[in-house]
Amino acid sequence: MSDVKTSRVGVLGAGQLALMLAEAGKRLGVEVICAGQPGDCAEQVATLVVVDLNDAEQVAAFAKQVDVVTIESENTEMFVLEGLNVHPNARAIGIAQDRLLEKRFFNENGIGCAPFAQVDSTEDLQRAVAELGLPSILKTRRMGYDGKGQVRLESSGDIATALAEVGNVPCILEGMVRFRAEVSLIAARGTTGEIVFYPLIENVHREGILRRSTVPFAGATAELQELAETYLRKILEALEYVGVLAVEFFVVNRGLLANEMAPRVHNSGHWTIEGSATSQFENHLRAIAGMELGATTSEPTVMLNCIGEMPSEVETASTAALHRHDYGKEARAGRKVGHITFAASEREAIGRWYTRLNPED
Ligand code: AMP
Repeated sequence: MSDVKTSRVGVLGAGQLALMLAEAGKRLGVEVICAGQPGDCAEQVATLVVVDLNDAEQVAAFAKQVDVVTIESENTEMFVLEGLNVHPNARAIGIAQDRLLEKRFFNENGIGCAPFAQVDSTEDLQRAVAELGLPSILKTRRMGYDGKGQVRLESSGDIATALAEVGNVPCILEGMVRFRAEVSLIAARGTTGEIVFYPLIENVHREGILRRSTVPFAGATAELQELAETYLRKILEALEYVGVLAVEFFVVNRGLLANEMAPRVHNSGHWTIEGSATSQFENHLRAIAGMELGATTSEPTVMLNCIGEMPSEVETASTAALHRHDYGKEARAGRKVGHITFAASEREAIGRWYTRLNPED
């Protein structure tokens, strides 16, 4: 085997998604180089170039060292992407980083979502509450993640303070959806337009943070999978998208309502490392490096997030069926520091570990 690299991929960011992309790159012969700060967790496995991601000149200099640039966060500033060979493309990232543009885009493409209204002032919020009713949920248009930048409105008394609570920034108000389940669909589209889909994933969140992803979704039917695939195909083709895309949906009686899309590899797809013929990380690299996409044949699998701190190696080693992924991050409340994966048949171990990791449930 030659050790000639097919491609050098530069990731803007050096967190756990960059780390897992770099691990996949090693197996694939694609060199992954990360742009970030010393001590970022991807530094453990990838070359790290120190780059201020808000400095367009530094980002452009980094981009010159690689064949193609990708992102690990949709909150990457648009002005630093100008003129770069970046996948997914800047238009896709721009839409995904603004909840108002994202929801309009869903609707323009015939994809339903929760009723929403633009909110820039308390007067707007009063009007939006009159239109959408209560309870409802105020979300910042930008920079929201893991339940941050959101406030639930239960009564009209909450209106006066809600905007201040999220920092008086442009927002949307969303009607509350009574969903049967939360699911996501992950797809990859290559440079030739080839698309592969993974099976629908069922996701459980608490405090806005993903706790568990299960494949297959217990309520999945061929029709639901096909509906989700139709929606993702529309998005991918409308945006001439290259790379992995994840869309989160609420399952409702009439089908699926899109909640948000992530123009990158996604936490709900971490199970693909063990559970699928080709992981989401490998397929993302394959797509953006112009390679053929890998098969997404998948086995029933469950992933549990480790939030705040990682259980010790001694503790995880006591469950033989467990696959441990420690991102090597410092413990901090609410922080994703690792995940563990099981074959779905390991029901007893999964139940025990879910309780161990989420004692408040
Ligand atoms: P998000 O940051 O938009 O993904 O929201 C985080 C979590 O809050 C979601 O995974 C849902 O559990 C819940 N959530 C968000 N929007 C709504 C909504 N419109 N109706 C009901 N629950 C919601």
